[in-house]
Amino acid sequence: MSSTVGKVIRCKAAVAWEAGKPLVIEEVEVAPPQAMEVRVKIVVTALCHTDVYFWEAKGQTPVFPRIFGHEAAGIVESVGEGVTELKPGDHVLPVFTGECKECRHCKSEESNMCDLLRINTDRGVMLNDGKSRFSINGKPIYHFVGTSTFSQYSVIHVGCLAKINPAAPMDKVCILSCGVSTGLGATLNVAKPPKGSTVAIFGLGAVGLSAAEGARIAGASRIIGVDLNPKRFDEAKKFGVTEFVNPKDHHKPVQEVLAEMTDGGVDRSVECTGSVNAMISAFECVHDGWGVAVLVGVPNKDDAFKTHPMNFLNEKTLKGTFFGNYKPRTDLPNVVEMYMRKELELEKFITHEVCLSEINKAFDYMLKGESLRCIIRMDG
Ligand code: NAD
Ligand code: ZN
Repeated sequence: MSSTVGKVIRCKAAVAWEAGKPLVIEEVEVAPPQAMEVRVKIVVTALCHTDVYFWEAKGQTPVFPRIFGHEAAGIVESVGEGVTELKPGDHVLPVFTGECKECRHCKSEESNMCDLLRINTDRGVMLNDGKSRFSINGKPIYHFVGTSTFSQYSVIHVGCLAKINPAAPMDKVCILSCGVSTGLGATLNVAKPPKGSTVAIFGLGAVGLSAAEGARIAGASRIIGVDLNPKRFDEAKKFGVTEFVNPKDHHKPVQEVLAEMTDGGVDRSVECTGSVNAMISAFECVHDGWGVAVLVGVPNKDDAFKTHPMNFLNEKTLKGTFFGNYKPRTDLPNVVEMYMRKELELEKFITHEVCLSEINKAFDYMLKGESLRCIIRMDG
């Protein structure tokens, strides 16, 4: 048994003291796991847009000081009372939304919206005792979405950890813990394009390109990428995107451009932008009779979706998804196996790499729109 079991661990973490200010590498104390909790040594983490969004804290409840980070891979150090599915040494992916396996959602085959462990961005403490496991000189540092992976050790509810194949390279599969699985699942589990179909992807960031990867895997024959940033188009070619449309290059609405290109509309569309206008276009550009649009992007607080009800009567279907409809503990290990069988490529998403002491660079790359995924190695 490791000598740290049951004791406080001191380690490095990147702490966000204030909204929008560079993170500071601090020595933090990480308390042992309580009932149904697991302490995990984070090996590698990646930066996702959601971290940046809550770090900027524009329009949401600010919770500071806080340790961000939710896309990661690590190794179980110790487990709390009642944890039977994981043991020290197991390899895990933390997930911002959990699976308790007991609630109505977890018991339903159709849902991944667990009642107990569904994402809660306002909560900065653990469920068990309403307190944080992180501190500096006795002062609490708050958690983020139950994962807080910008720390060399983190305490996570067992329901938010997927146990994965120990042979899987953590510096690759860490990106399956959020963005890539979301996009992939949006296409494979929700849009379900038939072989040979035409799929439009709105937004060619990591989520949209994962949705494109899903379309490629499903055997789509045309994958049309839509983005306002022409720089994204070169990158997107590596992901099987066959055609590009920049809405800025056209005078008419992009849904009309797509309808002309596809003899009436695309078979499936997946929206990965967070822009409500793109959401409306993504719905209206699908073919009547059979077209299905899937919304993935997170809109602004006051946005409203407006479309003519005739679109529904004309048999266009609108759906939305959370984490690509994957149940984190049940399904993620299988997504890791898709990578191991080389059915899914992850290397091309990882455009940058830094060590923990340089974590602010990862924020710069993302803010400048240069990176798809920047991974952060936690040992340096
Ligand atoms: P990203 O910023 O890297 O990519 C978004 C892309 O959309 C950019 O390239 C941008 O130029 C483009 N874009 C913006 N407005 C557009 C418009 N009107 N028309 C066409 N293109 C437009 O972001 P990402 O990391 O790929 O994430 C995409 C979205 O998915 C975000 O809103 C994120 O919050 C959301 N997300 C949702 C879930 C979920 O479970 N539903 C999970 C993770 C991320
Ligand atoms: Zn549940």
